[in-house]
Amino acid sequence: MKSIVLFGPPGAGKGTQAQRIMNSTGLPQVSTGDMLRAAVSAGTETGVKAKSFMDAGELVPDDVIIDLIKDRIKQPDAVNGVMFDGFPRTIPQAEALSEICEVSHVIAIEVPDSKIVERICGRFTCADCSAVFHDTFKPTKVLNKCDSCDSSNFKRRADDNESTVLSRLNAYHEQTSPLADWYKSRNIFYPFNGDRPIDEITTDILSVLQ
Ligand code: ADP
Ligand code: ZN
Repeated sequence: MKSIVLFGPPGAGKGTQAQRIMNSTGLPQVSTGDMLRAAVSAGTETGVKAKSFMDAGELVPDDVIIDLIKDRIKQPDAVNGVMFDGFPRTIPQAEALSEICEVSHVIAIEVPDSKIVERICGRFTCADCSAVFHDTFKPTKVLNKCDSCDSSNFKRRADDNESTVLSRLNAYHEQTSPLADWYKSRNIFYPFNGDRPIDEITTDILSVLQ
């Protein structure tokens, strides 16, 4: 199987859909955001380079990201393809990817800017199983208990605040959205309206991946 790319603005629901696509296709999720956050908390060289950009809501330099991805796809679980989440985010990243891995589908989740700030500012994840929740739109079924694993251990991202969200959206429009045309011209771009119930979006995405 070839690799797929999940594309869309911050807060579009890429992480939520990634978990569902992973369960049904078996493709491992490769999230550059998660990898960078792990590097920052571990205090690695990559983490030190990335931290100030992430705190400001700016993109981390391409060479840092490309090195991270090259290492990641050498892992044994990546032999049959992966699902990239949050990568590529610039044309140079997409060019680098095209040299190391074949992408069969770019799954674009589209959500208007007006919805993004409220989505991101209320979101939190289970620290044990990574399930994604939202204070208003997807609260846990039982107060303070994860729906999937019963944990009471939740976390919120440091960059999920209003001013950083605006910088992240700006970076998306300036640097990442031009990739849509780049992939459209390669006939592998599949857009989905992300402003709908989560299950509907999953069903539509899985139907093109069959
Ligand atoms: P979101 O899509 O919600 O903004 P991510 O978890 O994908 O969040 O990324 C968080 C931050 O990590 C970004 O704001 C950026 O600083 C950095 N980052 C993640 N992926 C990349 C990438 N492919 N290129 C450059 N920076 C990235
Ligand atoms: Zn959980």
